[in-house]
Amino acid sequence: MFESLSGKLDKAFKTLKGQGTITEINVATTAKEIRRALVDADVNYKVAKDVTDKIKDEALGRNVLVSVSPGQLFVKITNEELTRLMGGEKKDINIGGDPAVILISGLQGSGKTTFSGKLARMLKSQGRQVLLTACDIYRPAAIDQLKVLGEQIGVDVYAEPENKNAIEIANNALKHAKATGKKIVIVDTAGRLAVDEQMMQEIESLKNAVKPSETLFVVDSMTGQDAVNTAKTFNDRLDFDGVVLTKLDGDTRGGAALSIRSVVEKPIKFISTGEKMEAIDVFYPDRMANRILG
Ligand code: GDP
Repeated sequence: MFESLSGKLDKAFKTLKGQGTITEINVATTAKEIRRALVDADVNYKVAKDVTDKIKDEALGRNVLVSVSPGQLFVKITNEELTRLMGGEKKDINIGGDPAVILISGLQGSGKTTFSGKLARMLKSQGRQVLLTACDIYRPAAIDQLKVLGEQIGVDVYAEPENKNAIEIANNALKHAKATGKKIVIVDTAGRLAVDEQMMQEIESLKNAVKPSETLFVVDSMTGQDAVNTAKTFNDRLDFDGVVLTKLDGDTRGGAALSIRSVVEKPIKFISTGEKMEAIDVFYPDRMANRILG
């Protein structure tokens, strides 16, 4: 992932090779190349500009230490700024409540059902009692998909295949969780191929009904700028708590990972890097910045 961005950033830093000091001119040139690399990686233009302006100011403002070359200083500053852009500190999910409800939202095909399984597996491995709930009332295959995943990871799945009322299913799942001693209920919801009003109303009412301690928005990182726009639309309606970026194992240009936080002002909490249940990671902005900068 991010090969192209990493390569371009590396090239930008190389323009400083052999230069003894930071000057207005070499800072401007390098900053411009960094900005171009970010925009090519599908980072929103304004975000890319803000970041590079900050990098430029920092580079000019800092005294170059004797042991640090301009190139090294730029790498360090860029690393700090990318980390800040992606949210700085790692942010945990809130699993308070009895049971705690985690609502999974997003478009169809973004990876909601797969992620629900992964999250359940991760929480189970931490010794928590988890119940998965199938609230995708439009796609019968989604119920089966969740059941298969549940069996695979050893987590119970609550479903009512004949019921077309997602709120009723979710409320019944909560009762079932209480009765069976489950502490966390993960609610997988229906998605559409594009944002539509009916879907938004449904998930909004579901959220109001089950009062989740954590609402996560799942988005396919391969969709670049669209990912950011969809995140904005969902956030305006749902005021979600965190983002899950999926398909980071594909040849994503990385723009979504870099822009979502600053556009939506909600943290990325998990990344998904494959179809297997183990392919989930807690999101650490600093580790991602290190990865991008190689
Ligand atoms: P949903 O419609 O949002 O529930 O999406 P699904 O969970 O059914 O995922 C849609 C497709 O994407 C499936 O074929 C998944 O196996 C695949 N998928 C989900 N997450 C990832 C990921 O992180 N990487 C890759 N390569 N594929 C994924």
